[in-house]
Amino acid sequence: MFGNVSNAAPKIFKGGFARCDNLKYAIFNGSERINNKLELEAKNSVNQWNGITPYVNIKKGDISTAQIILDMGRMDPPSPGKLGKTLFVGADGNNVKTSDRWVKALCIRFNFDGTKENKYATTVHEIGHALSLAHCANAKKHSFHIMHQGLKDSYKVTKYDKKKLKYKWEKRK
Ligand SMILES: [Zn+2]
Ligand SMILES: [Zn+2]
Repeated sequence: MFGNVSNAAPKIFKGGFARCDNLKYAIFNGSERINNKLELEAKNSVNQWNGITPYVNIKKGDISTAQIILDMGRMDPPSPGKLGKTLFVGADGNNVKTSDRWVKALCIRFNFDGTKENKYATTVHEIGHALSLAHCANAKKHSFHIMHQGLKDSYKVTKYDKKKLKYKWEKRK
């Protein structure tokens, strides 16, 4: 009778930020020139997650203190077709696993040929990882789920993604 409970549980990382209600983001300027267009893109990407739960309200901060660093046009993807990657940094400055606590997340979007929506979606997806969301494990291709792996046509977070975020930050013990 309870057979579906665990399958229905949203896919989230065990680790994450200690808290997520005071997070700041900043754009890393190493690979793309920061201009108003990039600033707006970063803000819109972050805003996809803001307000879904009262615990997520990410504001613009300073590169040296922000916990979420957006690197939005890095050249040389490690493998062809790789869209993005998120690295998690622990309190000692070393990379940590998704089951650990992190104090900083570096959300990388590789430079690829794609639509504006595809590119936005990659940044929104990587921010989802920073907030402890794992990939949607459903074998079906949900190109509309932000946390599904692969190219997406829209950068809007879906009901499914929102549910995962709330599950992680409101229901955890
Ligand atoms: Zn999916
Ligand atoms: Zn991913």
